[in-house]
Amino acid sequence: MKEIRERAKNYTFQTEVNRMMKLIINSLYRNKEIFLRELISNGSDALDKIRLLSLTDHNVLESNPDLSIRIKAEPDKRQLHIIDSGIGMTGAELVNNLGTIAKSGTADFLSKMQDVEKGGAQEMNDMIGQFGVGFYSAFLVAERVTVVSKHNDDVQHVWESDANAFSVAADPRGNTLRRGTHITLHLKEEAADYLQPDTIRSLVKKYSQFINFPIHLWASRT
Ligand code: ADP
Ligand code: MG
Repeated sequence: MKEIRERAKNYTFQTEVNRMMKLIINSLYRNKEIFLRELISNGSDALDKIRLLSLTDHNVLESNPDLSIRIKAEPDKRQLHIIDSGIGMTGAELVNNLGTIAKSGTADFLSKMQDVEKGGAQEMNDMIGQFGVGFYSAFLVAERVTVVSKHNDDVQHVWESDANAFSVAADPRGNTLRRGTHITLHLKEEAADYLQPDTIRSLVKKYSQFINFPIHLWASRT
């Protein structure tokens, strides 16, 4: 535990991330809905990671034995939440994983996408199917994204961004999550339809029906 709670530190995105975000915004405006597939797939990957670790170290699940994904809509706040009890991210991992692009294939993807942009919509859809476009697709529908994450090896941290820059801080509320990641999408006005339970349900069915963990949908009434 740190003696003095660290204050929010501000960061700029790596150049490739800015390029990626621009490309996503410019080319996927007709396919905004894929953001949910990407965030659920990240939750599933994080759950796979903690489950794999638990095969050699049973203790890792003590923080939370449940392995699932929850989706919660709060129409009154225009917020959509995607919560997983996966491996979570340490403060350092939040900075690295959600501020840079570590994947070696990304440069390749960026140049291929730029070629395809000149082509038709079908070609674009094929590309989107082939490559996951990743976490940054959240900004297709959100004006601001908050990621709260708790990894077994660190205190809970908060990452926040409006797509221009981001900040990371130890969570002043302490560890409210037992383990995992809670993503809050502060939806754009025009993306409010993603708060409808029927819309969410059909997207989960369309894109995420083969996810190996339970996906619970929770909608507050307003
Ligand atoms: P990819 O999933 O292809 O690696 P993303 O852009 O979707 O690329 O995510 C970037 C990275 O951020 C992931 O590789 C992972 O390390 C981290 N990450 C994203 N979402 C989560 C999550 N829900 N739990 C833990 N780590 C995550
Ligand atoms: Mg991903």
